[in-house]
Amino acid sequence: MIDETNDSALKSWVETPHGSDFPIQNLPIGIFSVGDRRRRAGVAIGDFVLDLTGIADLLDEDWREDLSQPILNGWLARGNGAQHALRERLIELLGDERYRDDVEPQLIGQTEVRMHVPCLVGDYTDFYVGIHHATNVGKQFRPDNPLLPNYKYVPIGYHGRASSIRVSGEPVIRPSGQRKAPDADAPEYGPSRRLDYELELGIWIGRGNDLGSPIPVGEAARHIAGYCLLNDWSARDIQAWEYQPLGPFLSKSFMTSVSAWVVSQQALAPFRRPMPPRADGDPRPLPYLDNPADRESGALEIQLEAVLTSERMRQDGIAPHVLSRGSADAAMYWSAAQIVAHHTANGCNLLPGDLIGTGTLSTDSNNGLGSLLEISRGGKQPIALATGEMRSFLEDGDEITLRAWCEGETGLRIGFGECVGRVAGDR
Ligand code: CA
Repeated sequence: MIDETNDSALKSWVETPHGSDFPIQNLPIGIFSVGDRRRRAGVAIGDFVLDLTGIADLLDEDWREDLSQPILNGWLARGNGAQHALRERLIELLGDERYRDDVEPQLIGQTEVRMHVPCLVGDYTDFYVGIHHATNVGKQFRPDNPLLPNYKYVPIGYHGRASSIRVSGEPVIRPSGQRKAPDADAPEYGPSRRLDYELELGIWIGRGNDLGSPIPVGEAARHIAGYCLLNDWSARDIQAWEYQPLGPFLSKSFMTSVSAWVVSQQALAPFRRPMPPRADGDPRPLPYLDNPADRESGALEIQLEAVLTSERMRQDGIAPHVLSRGSADAAMYWSAAQIVAHHTANGCNLLPGDLIGTGTLSTDSNNGLGSLLEISRGGKQPIALATGEMRSFLEDGDEITLRAWCEGETGLRIGFGECVGRVAGDR
């Protein structure tokens, strides 16, 4: 798992600022463009994007066609072997001064580029594996029995909308829909008054599986290309009225934001951890979801953070309000491998470039709650911002920034980049 590409002693001739998300041990891949030139694949290093089409002559000829596409589906379909070979080659090119003259002209400042959703997403599924989130939300409806009986057996998910997935930075248009106040006789149609965010990780699928051929939990890692941040924007008032009996629909499908970079499993290998032990009395996973290696190393110690700024805070130059901080490994009741195994357990086929959300990742602490629904206790306990403004849910002009990073004892930091969205008014 951990190999020489994870060595914290590796250095690049590209200057990497202290605390950068993108040291030479990370090398996440993404799709970018400059001006009106066409979209192409690049890799993040320090404050730069390395244009992979610009260094095509230095890469395996066999990779060229897939790496010159405006989406990464074809490249990720090749699986982790090709990804790892590219990673090794890039470490050589960016680590050895001999290649500097050839490679340096293909570095573009990250502030000069526009990033895009890295894949054409055919299907997007959102899970609900954050057990503290599920418990906190369940308590608002069922104080004595927050988790439904299936939760500890089934990795719960719902089918999301692929067409409205947008990259970090795209504005969020406040959705309108049917909302019904608890004491009202009938719903009305109008802009959501309870717009919320959800702090999640996204899983990018690399190699797919054939229809009718489930992916065993022990092989799931071979189908995961990497990870990103995901914000599952949610209209709580629309959701509360529409979700029974078939689950969320228009309350979620108006938009989902993702961070731009695909952080590979290999870059995250040093941060694998045992799955948190299940509480006494919890059932063991059914055999198709159980695997000793996954129990040993299925969790990822990824630090997560969500911050908010209002329009007034930005005007007054006030630092962002920290909404939450916590680690993903303590939040997930099911691992990424169990999610993939469950998704395909009925024979459903995943395709390269499919996106899977983990579900909101809240920790068991009040400092680690991944949505305003939890932070404001369903709107009953608004939070105060430094301007004196109060928030139960998001107002127009509010901006949410999600961040994720792993940090090792050796100072190695593997970051995800940001997932940002600002609420524009309704249309
Ligand atoms: Ca969600």
